[in-house]
Amino acid sequence: MTFFKSFYALLLLVSVIIYLGCSRGPYASTNKSYKKQAKAFANIIKQAPVKDSFSSVPWVGTTNFNLRKPNFVIIHHTAQNSCDQTLKTFTLPRTQVSAHYVICKDGIIHHMLNDYLRAWHGGVARWGNNTDINSSSIGIEIDNNGFEPFTNQQINSLLALLSSLKRAYVIPTANFIGHADIAPTRKNDPNVNFPWKILADSGYGVWWSDTAGVTVPQDFNNLQALRIIGYDIKDSAAAIQSFKRKFEQIDKSAFLTEEDRKILFTLYQKYQ
Ligand SMILES: [Zn+2]
Repeated sequence: MTFFKSFYALLLLVSVIIYLGCSRGPYASTNKSYKKQAKAFANIIKQAPVKDSFSSVPWVGTTNFNLRKPNFVIIHHTAQNSCDQTLKTFTLPRTQVSAHYVICKDGIIHHMLNDYLRAWHGGVARWGNNTDINSSSIGIEIDNNGFEPFTNQQINSLLALLSSLKRAYVIPTANFIGHADIAPTRKNDPNVNFPWKILADSGYGVWWSDTAGVTVPQDFNNLQALRIIGYDIKDSAAAIQSFKRKFEQIDKSAFLTEEDRKILFTLYQKYQ
């Protein structure tokens, strides 16, 4: 009897081990690597005194502090063919790219990095005088090949996610922007089909006002207005293209008509 009891106990144990082994999924080893890296950063944070900064002076740890918070949200399209492909890309060390969230076509959101940590999604970028957007932002990648429309499920999931992020980190309305805004010479994402107005109507991003009856002042400077909004105007054609793609859903046009100038003028006034 005792033998059978032990035998069944052993059988049960082996089954549990096999079950756990199978249920760990394809990302078991990269999840392990994530934990290891997070632990290494936790050890850096715990240093007191801090080894790699001004360590020759006396250390007196303050009692009043917390973690730095993200202050921007950058929206991307993945320019890949599936969510699985993107999850794989973001878990291969050699690609050197990542984001905090990935939103699949069916609306499922994958969380890939703690919001307090720095993802590698912006690359060389600038918004206003901020040249290290990765340090101050959350990156959200939407599964999209770069040309197609976004699904309703994706936009609904995105709005739910943005609501949570805005509340949690008190992110200003104007700081919900796209990759093309911060890197106009290199990027066009999210593509021309992205519904920025739906986002702005929900409180994520700034939108222009009705232009009927608007007269643009003689001395209104298009490029300075774009600069005040945040665009890097070093390449003015790229900045204008990015502006028109986002606010008028017109791709690859680097020229401002009088109607475009009215739109820009009403938008610019919201940044005064
Ligand atoms: Zn991007």
